Amino acid sequence: MPSGPSSSAGENAIGPHAVNWRFTSPMLVTIWQGRRTPPRSSGSGHAGKRPTAATWTHPAVLLPMIFKTEGLVLRVAPFSRTSHTVLWLTPDRGKLATLVKGAQRAKSPFLGQYDLFYTCEILYYRRERTGLHLLKECTPENTRPHFRSDWRAFVIAAYFSDLAARLCPPESPHPDVYKLMEATLDALATPGRGWPLVFWFELQLLGMVGLGPQLDRCLSCGRPVDLVSVDQDRCWFSPTHGGLLCNACAAGAAGLMSAQLQVVEALRNWRSTASPRQLVGAGVATEHLVTIRDLLGRFLTFHVDPHPDCREFGLRVLPVLSGAHSHPM
Ligand SMILES: [Zn+2]
Repeated sequence: MPSGPSSSAGENAIGPHAVNWRFTSPMLVTIWQGRRTPPRSSGSGHAGKRPTAATWTHPAVLLPMIFKTEGLVLRVAPFSRTSHTVLWLTPDRGKLATLVKGAQRAKSPFLGQYDLFYTCEILYYRRERTGLHLLKECTPENTRPHFRSDWRAFVIAAYFSDLAARLCPPESPHPDVYKLMEATLDALATPGRGWPLVFWFELQLLGMVGLGPQLDRCLSCGRPVDLVSVDQDRCWFSPTHGGLLCNACAAGAAGLMSAQLQVVEALRNWRSTASPRQLVGAGVATEHLVTIRDLLGRFLTFHVDPHPDCREFGLRVLPVLSGAHSHPM
């Protein structure tokens, strides 16, 4: 018996009508497109066999194909003889990578549209399978020209970008990290920069991603670390455990670093300082800044494993800028 066209909703799930033009975010330029790839069957007798397209709708039917957002360039690398990959930090999509086809061709529309530490408005095709999205359009919004003429600022900005790229998981939104990167890169153009800016950035970034050192209480007994719990104005920092130990708990522990209470106070102050503009004239003595450099350096080496040269070079080209020795570069 011949059957007419089916009126079942399930049998019409895949087809031109399955394309769903629905917006879920104001940041999206939406082109919704259906896909016909069904998932693998989980049944034991049908391993690897796929259900028919007529009875199943892939969730990717609702996935947008083009995104529009703002991004800060963390890294640019060659991909082929003519293309680039660009690593972006965005406020709403976190860290993401795009392929820029033909970026190095003489007539590429992307020439001059992006470079390290630019903030750009970008439009990209989303590629779920590879995670390397395809850049369609790019418009620079803030080019930060001081990085083209100030190599010292460029070196330390490269360290900040490397650290952010290591600490931010891919495509996990971190708008606070994005604001931190923007504010810190802009602060590098000002004359008051120095070691405190580096340490402030490290503490802020570590805190935002949940890796900040414990600076208030003893990691072992939980008592507050202050003048009452320490002897001779010193306390102990454990880079491996990630925080302070009181004198009683530090007895017998290995790999500890001695730190004066002024050092701990400086770290606490930077942790609670919201803007890099408030760091000028922080008033921390040079000897304490050296202790903080070593203390945070060992902490980062153990917990983040940054590029071994980036931090060292950055601190070498910046002034210490302690309270007793504050001068612009
Ligand atoms: Zn303790």
